[in-house]
This record gives sequence, structure tokens and C-alpha cells, in this order.
Amino acid sequence: MTPSQRRLETMTWPELQRQAARPGSTVIWPFGAFEQHGPHLPLSTDALFADRITDAVLAELDPALPIWRLPLQHLGFSPEHQGFAGTLSLPAELLISLVVNVGRQLELAGFRRLVLLNGHGGQIGLLEVAGRTLRSQHPRLAVLPCFLWRGPEGIGELIPEPERSQGLHAGLAETSLMLHLAPELTGSMRPSDGPHAVIRPIDGATGARRAGDQAGAPLDPSSAEARRAAGLPPEGWSLEGLAPCCWITSEFSASGVLGSAEGASADLGERLYQRLVEGWRRRLDALLRSDWPPTSGAG
Ligand SMILES: [Zn+2]
Repeated sequence: MTPSQRRLETMTWPELQRQAARPGSTVIWPFGAFEQHGPHLPLSTDALFADRITDAVLAELDPALPIWRLPLQHLGFSPEHQGFAGTLSLPAELLISLVVNVGRQLELAGFRRLVLLNGHGGQIGLLEVAGRTLRSQHPRLAVLPCFLWRGPEGIGELIPEPERSQGLHAGLAETSLMLHLAPELTGSMRPSDGPHAVIRPIDGATGARRAGDQAGAPLDPSSAEARRAAGLPPEGWSLEGLAPCCWITSEFSASGVLGSAEGASADLGERLYQRLVEGWRRRLDALLRSDWPPTSGAG
């Protein structure tokens, strides 16, 4: 089935009504963001990834499976990037209301599942709240709020440390994926910025300094003193992960990048793309052949 046949907006209303009435009828809604992605990636980075991967997954699914997509929700929730020109962020309440209102009407039309495929890490929690709110009000509709980069197997092993755990934004993974999907939109700079970029070897030794500071002796990078000097979080804490903080990009990075785009390549981007598409294809195929999740209002 071609991607255009999987689009709700190309149907007539009687056709949509017929399809929505099929058992397990599912809508997938790609979510992006309109936010700075460093000096080398477009504002649409997260949106383009969610949109393209949704289409690629739909093209590979069995045409008999009852799933259709909504148009991309391009604008998202990006207050952490607002210190940079071009970032357009919607209020959290508006996005929750958007999901609840669209979901309510999909349920009324007869659909049984709504998958949110989100490309922006900064709105994972928000879409989970929106999904729970929608479910509590419209229990016949199952809601599955998913993050594009979390789920598919084998993504982490393609990205070396420290980039794997600390490359949060516009680093190796996103730059490589953009080089594969839209090289014409990818600039030539390969910035390295943010907390982990400031600990690096100095004159052959390993040491830590605050970025731009050329004075002082190198420090043992694992010491508390070095972590403090480099602007790194104390032991056990991090920007993301088990003990996170609500970070603002401009407090850690002048370029807008958190991580490193050094070494990015279209080849790595192609491997990331294949694993993302295959991971989501497998998950959606399994979902669509199941009754998951239970919905109390379904009959
Ligand atoms: Zn991004």
C-alpha cells in the first residue's frame, strides 16, 4: 500500500466511517517540534524524522492491517530551546487539549487506537499526560504515546559513549539521520557542545576545564572538583536519565547542540533509519494483530 492510501485526509467520510468500524482500527499521529537544532540542522528536524519514519513504516506494513495516519503535528512543546531564534513552542495546555479533542473525535468516528509517534524528547511526558487525560475521558479509545528513538532495538549500539548517554540534541545520531534523509538540509558544521564536551584530553593528558579556559593544571576528570569546574552535575545526577533536571539549552550550550556531531555520516544515518523503521514496523505489526491494550468501554 502506498503512503497516500494510508492517509486519513484522502478518504471520503463514508470510506473513513467504514474503515474506522473495522476491528482494531488504529490511527497513527506523528508529532514533531519546531525548534533550534544547532547551526547545522533545520528547525524541522524532529518533525521530519517523525513524518518520514511514519510513512516508511506504513509502506512496509501488510496492506490488510487497519492503520492510517494523521497529518504531521509540526509544532510542539519546546520551552527549553526558546533562547534560540526560530524556536516556536506551543503551551502545554494547548497540546493536551489538541490531543484530547482530536482523540475524542476519532473515537466518535469509531477508531479504537491512537498511536502518538513523537520525535521530540522534550515532550515525552507531556504526551503521556495528554494520552492519560484522553483515555480517562474516552475509555473506548486506547492511546499509545511512543517516542521515536525509544523502543527499536540496536539503536544504542550504533552510538559510542559518551554520545550514547549524553548526546541529547543535534549530536551524532540526529546529524547522521538527517544526512541520510535530507542531506540538502544539513549544514557542514559538526559542533560539539554542552557538558560532556568540556571534558577532553589536554596536551595529551586527561583533564577537565571549563570550556574556553586555557589556564590552570589539568584535573582528574572523575574528581568532584573536576566535575564542578567543568560545569558537570554531581555524582549520580544528569541532564536526563534516572535523576534528571529540567534543563535549558542556553545554560549549557552556545551553539544549541548538546553532545557532538563530530563523525556524523550518511552511512550511520542509514543504519539508524533502517533500525528505526524495522523496530516500529515490528511493533505496529504485533500491535495490529492483537487486542492490546484492553479497553474497558470496548464492546
Ligand atoms: Zn531533535
